[in-house]
Amino acid sequence: LFILTAVFFSCKKEATVTSINDPITTKVDSLLAIMTLEEKVGQMNQYNGFWNVTGPAPKEGDAAARYDDLRNGRVGSMLNVTGVEEVRKVQKIAVEESRLGIPLIIGFDVIHGYKTISPIPLAEAASWNMELIRRSAEVAAREAAASGINWTFAPMVDISRDARWGRVMEGAGEDPYLGSLIAAARVTGFQGDDLSSPLTIAACAKHFAGYGFSEAGRDYNTVDVGTSTLYNTILPPFKAAKEAGVRTFMNSFNILNGIPATGNALLQRDILKGDWDFSGFVVSDWGTIDEMISHGYAKDGKDAALKAIKAGSDMDMESYHYLNHLKELVENGAVKEGLIDDAVRRILRLKFELGLFDDPYKYCDPEREQEIVGSDEHHAAVLEMAKNSIVLLKNENDLLPLKKEGLNIALIGPLADDKTSPLGNWRIAADDSTAVSVLEGLNAYDGNRITHRQGVKLIEGTPSFTRETLINTTDRSGISQAVAAARGKDAVIMVLGEHGFLSGEARSRASLDLPGLQQELLEAVYKVNKNVILVLMNGRPLTINWADKNIPAIVEAWQLGSESGHAIAQVLYGDHTPSGKLPMTFPKDVGQLPLYYNYMNTGRPNTNNPGEVFWSHYIDMENTPLYPFGHGLSYTSFKYDKLKISKDSIQDEEVLEVSFELTNTGERTGTETAQLYIRDHVASRTRPVKELKKFMQVILKPGETQTIIMTISEEDLAFYTDHNRWQAETGNFSIFIGGSSETSLDTSFYYKNNIF
Ligand code: BGC
Repeated sequence: LFILTAVFFSCKKEATVTSINDPITTKVDSLLAIMTLEEKVGQMNQYNGFWNVTGPAPKEGDAAARYDDLRNGRVGSMLNVTGVEEVRKVQKIAVEESRLGIPLIIGFDVIHGYKTISPIPLAEAASWNMELIRRSAEVAAREAAASGINWTFAPMVDISRDARWGRVMEGAGEDPYLGSLIAAARVTGFQGDDLSSPLTIAACAKHFAGYGFSEAGRDYNTVDVGTSTLYNTILPPFKAAKEAGVRTFMNSFNILNGIPATGNALLQRDILKGDWDFSGFVVSDWGTIDEMISHGYAKDGKDAALKAIKAGSDMDMESYHYLNHLKELVENGAVKEGLIDDAVRRILRLKFELGLFDDPYKYCDPEREQEIVGSDEHHAAVLEMAKNSIVLLKNENDLLPLKKEGLNIALIGPLADDKTSPLGNWRIAADDSTAVSVLEGLNAYDGNRITHRQGVKLIEGTPSFTRETLINTTDRSGISQAVAAARGKDAVIMVLGEHGFLSGEARSRASLDLPGLQQELLEAVYKVNKNVILVLMNGRPLTINWADKNIPAIVEAWQLGSESGHAIAQVLYGDHTPSGKLPMTFPKDVGQLPLYYNYMNTGRPNTNNPGEVFWSHYIDMENTPLYPFGHGLSYTSFKYDKLKISKDSIQDEEVLEVSFELTNTGERTGTETAQLYIRDHVASRTRPVKELKKFMQVILKPGETQTIIMTISEEDLAFYTDHNRWQAETGNFSIFIGGSSETSLDTSFYYKNNIF
């Protein structure tokens, strides 16, 4: 009975997604049939390649012990093995020296580029351009795939509403709709349409789930969210990644509603592998099986292994608890072998899909590595991505774009000539100091005179991916020189923000002000020259209230990767007209967080203003953001007008046509991202005041008007209802149109659902 149940269980999961006769299933089954239990468990174990840098060794000894484990079939995957030679070395042991010769799958955090670095993912999200985002992931995949890697731990699709969380730089911002489109674009970019091609790699949707909702924005912290937020905000981008064919998921460090994500059967077994029929595998996040002990959810390593496998975690990244305990757990009957078989089938399936059994070295091609990595074509792609990621936050008196000739410009700030920070965090394979700095970018134009001063130092010592980054708060020695350089100049460009290692994992911040002495520098320079253009280089929204009130032009340039300086210079000089839109709300004050556009109304009337029924406030700060979600200016201006809908009411699968006129009212050609939001007024679960449902990017010449048509159908009105069913409910809906979430036109219609 035990065997039958096990076989049934594993077949049941697979049968829903692949036909029994599918050639890969047959190959997987034949291989599984000859594997010992120990070899199966080995496939579920992933080792880190930076053996002497991070992480404890698996047992007494070091690399040699791990080579032995490869030889003995005790390892299914490795991460952080970089370069063709290294990968070839470990792969050779697995393939040529282990009993069954099963190839390793080689994972790496290819987050926004491999060697040629794209903008950080949050910046890319500001482009709202799915084709560029797809292309950026494709470029990253091609470079990584030439260097031995066949699996990236990306995209991170965690929605977050709290910019204190340092990992917002890795995501697509706060909105589940935009986040879902971007998740799909990135998966498609990494995986292409043929996983067996040596130019593509498997993707991984992470961190499943809720990681972006860590309390107080502190990384790794507790997450406690209700089902409405879980289903309607957190899960949609994961679902979109799954629909786009993502082959793996990674679980997360956090507890979700009392249960660690790694031990969470609701997430991994019921939702992901059950409701969504996911046929790929789930890798734990780094050491998260072990962390269940600290969470107080498992009493020891054996208990942690038991809980993780039961909950649906298929591969153990660097906890060693699967390796050390799973065999015994099966032998003593605590874990059914069917669970192991199911996990191993999923892992082997991907290895077959990647073509690793046909040619385990296909990803290790020094010639291709030489030819592809860092190619001109790739630099052109990341430059295009970078230009389109820039958001013009403010531009008074048309200070921008700058004239290309005859100006005397001061370039000031600790990030002005920084060649490392623009690379951002999570670009492990790229060498430091390989980005084009803003100074270099401006110097590529030779018509103006540029005087450069650092002003203040931003950080202490040499920061790194693994070390804490210390902010300098004492060294004011350069401020007077910067002020002197700014005096009398035609314009001052100030490049301020965050060092590349001030955001990312474990980089939560309690203040979102300009770190260190930068605010002081900004104010000192502004005192002597009002023509300041503030270029922000940062990994998350910042509270730049003072700058917004005083500085005439503000450009959000994020961390734009290898081609950063070129992209910024082209925008400042008007060779590229900015078109980015914020994927995340900018608060006025950190005390407003979490702050997001798609909030729910309160039921509280305002006693001071009886007409206002949605009252909830601070006595010392307004509720409104500094810059709303979707905000972004251009060097031209746009007018929205004449909103019309095709009908006043629709039912079931009928489609509503929404049309409006968009006019370029300025003097330059520009791209506008027109946005459509809806509101479901009464529902079985309270719905947000506004939800993004459609957008369109339109290029308009000066004076040109275009009639934009967008459609709304049942699918756009659906949400996870009180029964967690994806469904559109009968009732009144509003439609809002505009150039940001602070929309300018609205209308309403009625939808009738006759099916439910
Ligand atoms: C991060 C993951 C990453 C993994 C492997 C963890 O610390 O949370 O996002 O993929 O390390 O580097």
